[in-house]
Amino acid sequence: MTLAYADVEAAAERIRGIAHRTPVLTSRTADARTGATLFFKAEPLQRAGAFKFRGACNAIAALSPEQRKRGVLAFSSGNHAQAIAYAGALQGVPTVIVMPHDAPAIKVAATRGYGAEIVVYDRYKEDREAVSRRLAEERGLSMIPPYDHPDVIAGQGTAVKELIEEVGPLDVLLVCLGGGGLLAGSCLAARALSPEVEIWGVEPEAGNDGQQSLAKGEVVRIPVPVSIADGALTTHLGQHTFPIIRREAAGIVTATDAQLVSAMRFFVERMKLVVEPTGCLAAAAAFEGAVAVQGKRVGVILSGGNVDPAALGRHLAA
Ligand SMILES: *Cc1c(COP(=O)(O)O)cnc(C)c1O
Repeated sequence: MTLAYADVEAAAERIRGIAHRTPVLTSRTADARTGATLFFKAEPLQRAGAFKFRGACNAIAALSPEQRKRGVLAFSSGNHAQAIAYAGALQGVPTVIVMPHDAPAIKVAATRGYGAEIVVYDRYKEDREAVSRRLAEERGLSMIPPYDHPDVIAGQGTAVKELIEEVGPLDVLLVCLGGGGLLAGSCLAARALSPEVEIWGVEPEAGNDGQQSLAKGEVVRIPVPVSIADGALTTHLGQHTFPIIRREAAGIVTATDAQLVSAMRFFVERMKLVVEPTGCLAAAAAFEGAVAVQGKRVGVILSGGNVDPAALGRHLAA
């Protein structure tokens, strides 16, 4: 299956009325600081607090009635799990989330609160993919991965579709990058709606596998990186996401943890918005000059806002 903009349009139809159309925010202070005109797409205000709800919603809505009846499975302890749990609950589809036994209690509670069944595994003794596959087979569940799935990618592309429909063509688009579901979907939407736009991925400096992959022309695998950007600690791009990113992106740049904290502080202080560390990657690239934005119309995806209040306090106090 070759993914195209038509798939993003189909996703937008499926998730209409379920996912929020999030606001686009602007800031004169941010514009003055960068010399650009910045348009921030505010996915912290999406349902379940991140853009992941879009892909989850689309992937579940695209299942057959029989598959929906049996239910879906996801393995994750982060935003994807919560998105699947919530999207399943809203569409009347049972969800099973496979989580490590030592996942933060607050995340387990939130995911269960959305109505999911939680299955725990021992992360030191068991392989989560093997546990998930066995469970999916036994119970006839459809597995929905966090990024490397055509319906997930198409769903993630709806954020940039909304952004460009609202503000018009862009010169530059900055998108945070983990496994590349958001960036690949954004590429499809942006290239169709603003053909000349320059698209950049932004990943944590500590885990620049995407940058290495573009340089090498193939997917490069790295050890699990250490960064506060916990939504982008992926070790490799996907087989569906990499070819789209390679074809459409101008390049991939990185941001340090200190730059992410500085951006978080800016959003809280000046824009009254809680953005999680991973959600600040794209903004950090604009603020720190990793991509040249002066004099340009720039789309910046703020991908999510799920940060524990105590952790937010620690970051801002430091
Ligand atoms: C998952 C996630 C990302 C990375 O998305 P990919 O599709 O894996 O590249 C970025 N920001 C947030 C908040 C996320 O939850």
